[in-house]
Amino acid sequence: MLRYTVLTLFPGLVRPWTEEALLQRAIARGRLAIEVRDLRAYALGRYRQVDDYPYGGGAGMVLRPDVVIPAIEAALPADEVILLSPAGTPFTQRIAEELSQKSHLVLVAGRYEGFDARVEAFVTRELSIGDYVLMGGEVAALAVIEATARLVPGVLGEPGSVKEESFSWGLLDYPQYTRPPAYRGMPVPEVLLSGHHERIRRWRRAEALRRTLRRRPELLRSARLTAEDVLLLAELDAEG
Ligand code: SAM
Repeated sequence: MLRYTVLTLFPGLVRPWTEEALLQRAIARGRLAIEVRDLRAYALGRYRQVDDYPYGGGAGMVLRPDVVIPAIEAALPADEVILLSPAGTPFTQRIAEELSQKSHLVLVAGRYEGFDARVEAFVTRELSIGDYVLMGGEVAALAVIEATARLVPGVLGEPGSVKEESFSWGLLDYPQYTRPPAYRGMPVPEVLLSGHHERIRRWRRAEALRRTLRRRPELLRSARLTAEDVLLLAELDAEG
């Protein structure tokens, strides 16, 4: 069972996501639990303030530490407190695998110009979901939930589907085909119709390597390559 607590100023953006389809089924089966807490419950004073002007001047508002830190403390104990931030460590499949083994993750979504830097002392890591700036951390928190939840045993129907896909070996996934066998003059590769399992396995591996080499060659540096992969890559290289 993996439990998440999401701290956000906009719980209404996060809750519906957790109430649909796969996540809801996994929650009903006791594999996941997702609690969404409103940061505004920790707002200060008569005006229920959560943010304030940045010291030193500049545009926008900054989330106050005396709002965010008490909200984090109230969500403890947790294995990890994760701040969603464009300045965080890039979120990867490897991190998703690591987080999926934990039992309670607190995800803190920012808004406006982000958090007072003193909040950083109360988190275990900062994660970014990509080199762009979102309006808020809710979509980033949901991305972390989606990527980790599907790795929790019993959340997806077939464990095999998680093992053989993009990034699980550090490679992009091979191309997939379904019916019809030919569409608008585009046939399904003959090998996939052959029923020959070993030829299919080799073809898929070669296509995964080909895609990775063409689209994301930097991934090959850290991919788990077999001796067969190295040979296949040499052949692909020779193809040009
Ligand atoms: N001025 C901030 C900066 O450059 O770091 C940007 C704040 S952004 C408008 C508001 C919130 O959205 C952030 O506090 C963070 O929680 C979230 N956010 C924006 N882009 C993100 C990204 N790429 N990954 C994770 N969270 C992000």
